[in-house]
Amino acid sequence: MKIARIFAHRVDLPLVEGSYKWSGGKSVSIFDSTIVGVETECGLIGYGEVCPLGPFYLPAYSAGVRAGLRELGPHLIGFDPRELLKLNHRMDAALKGHPYVKSGIDIACWDLLGKVAQLPACTLMGGRFGEKIRLYRAISQLPPDEMADNVAGYRAQGYTRFQLKVGGDPDLDIQRIRQAREILQPSDRLIADANTGWTQHEAMRVVRAVSDLDVYIEQPCLTYEECLAVRRHTDNPFVLDENIDGLDVLLRARADLAMDVVNLKISKLGGLTRTKQVRDLCVSMGIAMTLEDSWGGDITTAAIAHLAHSTPEEFRFTSTDFNSYVTVSNASGAPQRLNGFMQTSDAAGLGVEPRFEVLGKRLVDVF
Ligand code: MG
Repeated sequence: MKIARIFAHRVDLPLVEGSYKWSGGKSVSIFDSTIVGVETECGLIGYGEVCPLGPFYLPAYSAGVRAGLRELGPHLIGFDPRELLKLNHRMDAALKGHPYVKSGIDIACWDLLGKVAQLPACTLMGGRFGEKIRLYRAISQLPPDEMADNVAGYRAQGYTRFQLKVGGDPDLDIQRIRQAREILQPSDRLIADANTGWTQHEAMRVVRAVSDLDVYIEQPCLTYEECLAVRRHTDNPFVLDENIDGLDVLLRARADLAMDVVNLKISKLGGLTRTKQVRDLCVSMGIAMTLEDSWGGDITTAAIAHLAHSTPEEFRFTSTDFNSYVTVSNASGAPQRLNGFMQTSDAAGLGVEPRFEVLGKRLVDVF
């Protein structure tokens, strides 16, 4: 089996809430997502999706996904898409870095592998643990009252885990955390995600001010060293996200006891193959994970679900259903949230079929 064609379409994903805001005044109102297709000589097609969180979150941007596919695609024609490690080795030899470019191709090849094997991707990634995947809801940054109202609204829809977007003015952030925690039940989980937005002294003030609350602190500062300093001054559970972009830093963070939970995003790590490698190591080391991506629609949500469902439940801190944040469905067959949970289907591969009628014209076509 050989790759004969790699193509990509752009699809705009407007937000149900109108916009999504996080640290430092960063905001997106319409996500620019790329749907990647990998087609074999026999006409079988696998699909993936890559959707950066705007151009200012990770070193990734939407037009860069497409430019990268044009650069990388010609090096992969003729390769066997089922040989995933070999394919990733080839991608790394042809294009240094740019993990988010490789992510869509790798996801599409897992979809293909599942279609060939007639098995769901989660079975091929280790097996299906449990019946369903517990979801968190990201709460866009707004004044404290409005964020608390949104937490209450999403709680009424069945969510029990909430990720507050803080990383703004530290005094307002303390209010945001206090007001949100107040309306939750003891069994609910609250994560204050600063997305690198606080300086070290600001983070120190916030963690001291909320030390009496049951709240997780996620990625308070920009650098690993700043986060480690904050970590060493709080006993609240601690999550690292933006800094965990590969195995080297994960191993260093583990040795430093720098976190209790890591956030693994598929495109941050370069696809399902690389994320699975980090995921499996985290399981071996006893580290719980948020399993997700930077953003996306139905195909991303399906990929997240297969990654999460194949992870032992005790190490699945949480995941999210990005397809419910946006107004456009880019594929059928994706998991749909039910009472704060989702589950993968039994269909082969990712179990999704793109809705070509909502996708823009083909912007990348390599053959
Ligand atoms: Mg985060």
